[in-house]
Amino acid sequence: MSVSAISIKGVNKTYEGKIEALKDINLDVEEGEVFGLVGPDGAGKSTLFNILTTLLLPDSGQIKVFLMDAVRDYKSIRQIIGYLPGTFSLYPDLSVQENLDFFAVMYKSDIEENMSLIEPIWKQISPFKDRKAGKLSGGMKQKLALCCALIHRPSILFLDEPTTGVDPVSRKEFWDILKSIRQQNITVVVSTPYMDEATRCDRIALIQDGRIIGINPPQTFINNFKGKLYTFKSENIFSLLKVMEQCPLNCNYYPYGEHCHVAFYEDMQEALPKFEAFLQEHHQTYETITPIDPSVEDCFIEIVTHSN
Ligand code: ADP
Ligand code: MG
Repeated sequence: MSVSAISIKGVNKTYEGKIEALKDINLDVEEGEVFGLVGPDGAGKSTLFNILTTLLLPDSGQIKVFLMDAVRDYKSIRQIIGYLPGTFSLYPDLSVQENLDFFAVMYKSDIEENMSLIEPIWKQISPFKDRKAGKLSGGMKQKLALCCALIHRPSILFLDEPTTGVDPVSRKEFWDILKSIRQQNITVVVSTPYMDEATRCDRIALIQDGRIIGINPPQTFINNFKGKLYTFKSENIFSLLKVMEQCPLNCNYYPYGEHCHVAFYEDMQEALPKFEAFLQEHHQTYETITPIDPSVEDCFIEIVTHSN
């Protein structure tokens, strides 16, 4: 039987005695997977990361990292994990090279020995190795931070929102890098507020208001979508959303980029003509209403708003 890389049972965390940041968290991460923690700002992602990386104590519950207890064995756990926290974790006044040297010394690890692991990333930043870390672009900073978090070849790498505020090209590159890290037998736990990135993970936990609302491979969330989803463009989305408040059909609607998404919980043969009649009756101008496959974001919205 394979050992879980991480096992979390009944974890709760409250700040200042009143802010319930985590409520009864239960989850397992398998060795070798890329596991995503996906949820909006304030959901509790960073709190969970800080607990998993032994920087913060839970109020209750049990956490095991490769069978080691996060409270009792925190020193051993720190040896085998790499952590890229959400806030800039490097020394801005040290150069790129000095940052890497510092982390290598701190972990008593040999840069040469582990160069093969970070080489594809290091190649991209080494032309700037004498530049101060604080003067790098957002994407470059993250690549350097990743090198520093990997230089001791951890068994698990934790990345808290590594792509937040990073441009789309660098975001894509970053995910390609994570895939290659996984091939090196390193378990990856990564958080993101970007639902589109969820599909790059083997499994994801959706988290909202300190609670996990589902754990599955991304495709399973999509397959489990209950509604019949349609998209259309409206001439005036604000007026449309106002009118939708009166829609007599059992449906869930929300703006989605430039479009409106509507998930119906109805027999569509009858519902679709009724819906078009309703929009016309309320003087709405819109383009063709098209059925589409849900994204992870649609699944998240359905679970949060339609869990009855
Ligand atoms: P996320 O990383 O998903 O944005 P956080 O774990 O940072 O979520 O925050 C979860 C909740 O806990 C939020 O309501 C946040 O305001 C609160 N919180 C986080 N850190 C602290 C802290 N040090 N003191 C008090 N409240 C906090
Ligand atoms: Mg956070």
